[in-house]
Amino acid sequence: MDSGNAELHPENRSLPPPDDMVGCDEKWIKKAILEAMAAAAQGEVPIGAVLVKDDELISTGRNSPIALNDPTAHAEINAIRAAAATLKNYRLVGTTLYVTLEPCVMCIGAILHARIDRLVYGARDPKSGAVSSIYNIGQDGLLNHTLEIEGPVLEHECAALLKDFFGKKRQIRKQARADSI
Ligand code: ZN
Repeated sequence: MDSGNAELHPENRSLPPPDDMVGCDEKWIKKAILEAMAAAAQGEVPIGAVLVKDDELISTGRNSPIALNDPTAHAEINAIRAAAATLKNYRLVGTTLYVTLEPCVMCIGAILHARIDRLVYGARDPKSGAVSSIYNIGQDGLLNHTLEIEGPVLEHECAALLKDFFGKKRQIRKQARADSI
């Protein structure tokens, strides 16, 4: 067997998703962006998520650790908790989670525990991204459950939310310093 052709083997080849799936992914990431914007309006870091089954919205989640005094209240965790309550099931088989930022270690852990089938993320997170940037959890074959991961999708739009948010924060801090002189 010619091992040099390993990447031509169907199981090793990553095919681009079909066009209709790309359109669907963008549609749901845009919905997650609305959640992220709602988080920003409440002074939270703008990250949003939606959980979808058979192209139907099951739940939404937005980043809210400050408002809830809860370090685990990331957008993904909030969307997962709401979906599990709605579906009355602790396993979310057959669902796709859309989130505007690549999940952290905690959230990919929750995604795997929930048995979510597919994850689509918006922007990469070079500082704490756990599915591509820093770690490759969920696709490295080390765990029982693996999931399909797609991303980045609408990366520019999703990253711009965070850039604007932190840019404005810096501006406010600068202004406050100038006023105190
Ligand atoms: Zn997280």
